[in-house]
Amino acid sequence: MSAVIISGKELATEKRAFIKAEVQKLVKDQQIQPSLAVILVGDNPASHSYVRAKQKACEEAGMECILDHYPSTLTEKELLDRIAHYNHEGSVHGILVQLPLPDHINELAVIESISPNKDVDGFHPVNIGKMMIDQETFLPCTPYGIVEMIKSLNVSISGKHVVVIGRSNIVGKPVGQLLLKEDATVTYCHSRTKDLASITKQADILIAAVGRANLIGPEFVKDGAIVIDVGVNRLDSGKLCGDVDFDKVKEKASFITPVPGGVGPMTITMLLQNTLQSAQKSESENKTFSC
Ligand code: NAD
Repeated sequence: MSAVIISGKELATEKRAFIKAEVQKLVKDQQIQPSLAVILVGDNPASHSYVRAKQKACEEAGMECILDHYPSTLTEKELLDRIAHYNHEGSVHGILVQLPLPDHINELAVIESISPNKDVDGFHPVNIGKMMIDQETFLPCTPYGIVEMIKSLNVSISGKHVVVIGRSNIVGKPVGQLLLKEDATVTYCHSRTKDLASITKQADILIAAVGRANLIGPEFVKDGAIVIDVGVNRLDSGKLCGDVDFDKVKEKASFITPVPGGVGPMTITMLLQNTLQSAQKSESENKTFSC
């Protein structure tokens, strides 16, 4: 039987309509316009296209998007100064520095310089720490979007065996953590894992976040598993594909995400959600202040 295709695009459209309505309310009732500052350094074509997509999504949701684009010669000090400016700018609710950065800039120093209160990417160590101990915070967008997609299926996550392939700080590690919070039993696999298929075949929910085109064929998948494909890989033909061999695996899985149109649109949606959350928080802080 062929799997149900989880349309990240459709779910994202629904969520963005809700976010847009909340933005309109905030503008009308509190005169607060949610605003995201996006900083892009250099000319990486993929980064350009991600930034364009984020800018378009903000505009469609009625949010302001300030785009600062600098040449790759920008120094680390200049970048940190720019971030410090936005940290102190009350009308800006979210700051996003598009990664990767040029080699001469220390990525961790940059992430740590963003105020945790404006870190809508959810990469700051303070926010990662809060996520680990289940405190309210900005959740990293891709893992957040994946959990929302799984929840939209109306299947219970509790007690399910989740296998995550990949242990990066931005996808693999946090998505496992968020699903642990939903009472799943979580196993992580990575490049040093031995006999990968023997582990992935135990997964009720399999999440592939590797970055290798079509690595996961049907021999890695249990019958009826939910398969979430995070990978974005460009084939020599120019076509995008995921880490999962979609055509073959969809015959074995119960639910599967496509690439493109799966996890990607949800990632940007959760960025909008985090920016909205930050603006709403600034509204409640203003209220407390004026009481
Ligand atoms: P990464 O390179 O930081 O991590 C890749 C992980 O895969 C590593 O932990 C590594 O141990 C593991 N790995 C590598 N080869 C493996 C193998 N043969 N077997 C098992 N594990 C292996 O990448 P990342 O930033 O986590 O991104 C992963 C993929 O997800 C990339 O294709 C990236 O483009 C994509 N991505 C998509 C979105 C989205 O919104 N759709 C967001 C972030 C990342």
